[in-house]
Amino acid sequence: MKTAKGYQDEVSLLTLQGIADVLNDGSQASTQVDETAHNRLVDLVTRWLESGPDIRKMHRRATDPNFWQIASTWEGRLTFVAEGGAQMLPVPGKDADIVSVYFIQLLLNPERLRLNAPCKQCCRWFIKQQKGRQTVYCSKTCKSNALVGNKRRNDRKKKLEEIGDAIANYLDSSSQLRSKMKWQEYVEQAVDDVTPNFLTRAVKAGEIQPPI
Ligand SMILES: [Zn+2]
Repeated sequence: MKTAKGYQDEVSLLTLQGIADVLNDGSQASTQVDETAHNRLVDLVTRWLESGPDIRKMHRRATDPNFWQIASTWEGRLTFVAEGGAQMLPVPGKDADIVSVYFIQLLLNPERLRLNAPCKQCCRWFIKQQKGRQTVYCSKTCKSNALVGNKRRNDRKKKLEEIGDAIANYLDSSSQLRSKMKWQEYVEQAVDDVTPNFLTRAVKAGEIQPPI
């Protein structure tokens, strides 16, 4: 078990980016954070963000009594600083576990509101430029990749709708036509950029209902 001083040295090295790194990479970012600790930390920080963040609200709804007990073991230690001043330094109690060290360090961090929930595109926690800003993407690259992905999804959705209409038309067509032409051929003629492969995959994926 690390001493309070040991933790203090470690936490003082942590920056908000360091916390984001641990949220993203767990033990790869900090060897003391095993999988269980990583999951607990992600869960805590997620609930913290979802609470507003409003730590008092979260405190009232606390589902992790252990955590709050540990949080209450933190103490202040008076240290003397430059220009004839003094400062209270937060020190984790000796029973504090690594999850509470990271989480309390986040709460103490003046820039904490800049920590953003995982990017919608690359799924990594990130630090946003300004704390008031609402954003779901960590970078311009992720934003433009997401837009390209959205366009592709929309195009596909539109194409599947057109195929659905073409299948309905095929079913409404004369039995003569249907005996001459398979539904796939009919759809390929009716809708742009449709290949037999595309139809096979879409049927398999349940995206289109082939005529019986
Ligand atoms: Zn991203």
